[in-house]
Amino acid sequence: MEDLIKRAAQDLANSTYAVALTGAGISTESGIPDFRGPDGVWTKNPEAERKAYRSYDDFVKDPKGWWEEVLSRAPSSTGAWWQSEPNAGHYALVELEKMGILKSVLTQNVDGLHEKAGSKNVYEYHGSMLKLRCVSCTSRFSRDEFDFEELRRHAQLPPRCPNCGGVIKSDGVAFGEPIPQDVARGSLEETGKCDLMLICGTSAVVYPFAELPRIASQRRIEAERVTQTGLHAVEKTPTVTIIEVNAEPTPLTQEGTSDYIIQGKTGEILPRIVDEVRKISSSTGPAL
Ligand code: NAD
Repeated sequence: MEDLIKRAAQDLANSTYAVALTGAGISTESGIPDFRGPDGVWTKNPEAERKAYRSYDDFVKDPKGWWEEVLSRAPSSTGAWWQSEPNAGHYALVELEKMGILKSVLTQNVDGLHEKAGSKNVYEYHGSMLKLRCVSCTSRFSRDEFDFEELRRHAQLPPRCPNCGGVIKSDGVAFGEPIPQDVARGSLEETGKCDLMLICGTSAVVYPFAELPRIASQRRIEAERVTQTGLHAVEKTPTVTIIEVNAEPTPLTQEGTSDYIIQGKTGEILPRIVDEVRKISSSTGPAL
């Protein structure tokens, strides 16, 4: 473990454009359960997973009815998300960004904890439960910009976008819902630019997000070389170092998409990686 932490720190220090990909696992230490880990919401309650798959169909068929149902839910069902605080894993990524090593965080999480921790360049691939979004122009709004009681009383649900008149829904992307174009494009661009991907707390089975590490692993430099027989061949060298920090091996580990996995808790491992990066930078000179 110690060796792998040092290796990750060295890889990060050597990188020129590192990005982090995060999933529900980075927030479990903030008290928000993941879906598919051993204590995950869906591991314990498979019916909840089936219901989640129906939600976007319901919205498309009847946005007004969808909003009425959402507003009728007890506030306690979303309470835990609002009260959660970032943990040491989120703050470690903020530190790496401040050092100029980490260029962006691409997250599947909808809890807003990366922004709350202070990460500046965050792509919320599946949106945020703390925001609303116009499904037409992707403008984002905070929930308190709309008076839902008033809208309900005057039969004005679903809320409409003040910029383009499109239908507003919660920013959180439901199963079957297209990924908002701005974050889909931005995440793909970051994947195309990076030379290191630090993947934290995701089972990497939800697509299209799970495609991003696979796209990165396919990025190779092709160089022609002369073989011993004097004939020419093309050699392909991977250009992106892919590191996983996860409680358990994932399909990325098993299929060899990641170069290595550091198995354990993100809240413990990421701060140790940051400490090692600091040691490297103090021994090599440049102020990180
Ligand atoms: P997942 O539940 O499928 O997988 C989480 C992974 O993280 C598992 O492999 C688990 O073993 C690991 N893990 C759990 N705690 C960890 C820890 N402390 N340190 C390291 N690893 C840990 O999550 P996913 O891959 O993100 O996919 C779930 C989908 O559900 C995502 O699309 C996400 O939008 C959504 N979701 C979000 C939240 C959130 O915003 N916090 C919570 C639950 C689900």
